[in-house]
Amino acid sequence: MSNPSLLILAGDGIGPEVMAQVQRIITWYGDKRGLNFDVSEDLVGGAAYDAHGVPLHDDTMAKAQEVDAVLLGAVGGPAYDDLDFSVKPERGLLRLRKEMDLYANLRPAQCFDALADFSSLKTELVSGLDIMIVRELTAGVYFGEPRGIFEEGNERVGINTQRYTESEIERGARSAFELAMRRNKKLCSMEKANVMESGILWRDVVTEVSKDYPEVELSHMYADNGAMQLVRAPKQFDVIYTDNLFGDILSDCAAMLTGSLGMLPSASLGAPMENGRPKAMYEPVHGSAPDITGQGKANPSACILSFAMALRYSFDQGEEADRLEAAVEKVLADGTRTADLMQAEGDTPVSTEEMGSAIIAALDASL
Ligand code: NAD
Repeated sequence: MSNPSLLILAGDGIGPEVMAQVQRIITWYGDKRGLNFDVSEDLVGGAAYDAHGVPLHDDTMAKAQEVDAVLLGAVGGPAYDDLDFSVKPERGLLRLRKEMDLYANLRPAQCFDALADFSSLKTELVSGLDIMIVRELTAGVYFGEPRGIFEEGNERVGINTQRYTESEIERGARSAFELAMRRNKKLCSMEKANVMESGILWRDVVTEVSKDYPEVELSHMYADNGAMQLVRAPKQFDVIYTDNLFGDILSDCAAMLTGSLGMLPSASLGAPMENGRPKAMYEPVHGSAPDITGQGKANPSACILSFAMALRYSFDQGEEADRLEAAVEKVLADGTRTADLMQAEGDTPVSTEEMGSAIIAALDASL
């Protein structure tokens, strides 16, 4: 059988810096675990614009459709701020998500004990926290028509439309239930069924889908209460399934319970391909961090943990994903940290490369 294929799109700013550490880890898995990947690399974002005048070349898009998973670094930067909207670096990212039809965005909020002090919440509320938000990514108010700013009488009106079909709600719900089955079998669906018809339909469809997953305990919550509960008692949740708009807000809120942007991975999954694997793109939540680009200060953990998600969700290597996450956790617990995770004055941060080396040493020690 041929090796699984990975397309690496490192992008701009710190993207290539953090991705270089992921590539070392991919090499480690080949050398030490016999887990080999066919890796190809290409351009996205500002780097693609510089080379081709577009933030994602058609050939790159075609490659992304063919591989088993895409790993993306970050896009954007001040050099591209004044470009026309149609060729801005972010358009490359949006094109990938749209054309690969990545409808389920997985954002874990996991608090490593060593970082519990970084949370704005009390340590006991976040220590051991491990929740997963599944955000519907390709429909809802960010895409619904009509949209625009229109003249109405003697003033303007801004319109966006919250629109969900049953099948759009259902396919994301199935991803969320499947995830809950692999975890603690609890799913909380969040909407605003008290004031929105789309919320009533959402609740109906999720309830219907739940009949196929009798082992999963389903609950429903209004999204505003969900926001309160996330900061009051986040450990009550296992998997949360919510729409594009609420998911945008709730996943940022949940993620920040856990500390630094440099620690947050994500996965965006679509329909299963012929080989049974879902279309998939894995990327850190952070951007291209122009303020620290080229200084060796970036924390590669978010990008490395995104690769751990790829091991788990694209390649069925749950144990190897556990191994990699445990290696990151051990390094943090040992006090090896990049500048974004410095606690006390006088602590000495390690560089991006040193952090990568420490994680590889922890992987070696796990054998
Ligand atoms: P950002 O995430 O790039 O940076 C925010 C802050 O967090 C900065 O101070 C940065 O130094 C720090 N930070 C981010 N990642 C870090 C890491 N791995 N290690 C240590 N510190 C880290 O967000 P921004 O400054 O608002 O945006 C910068 C550029 O990135 C913009 O062009 C924006 O459009 C783009 N962006 C891209 C993505 C993406 O590619 N998915 C996401 C967000 C922003």
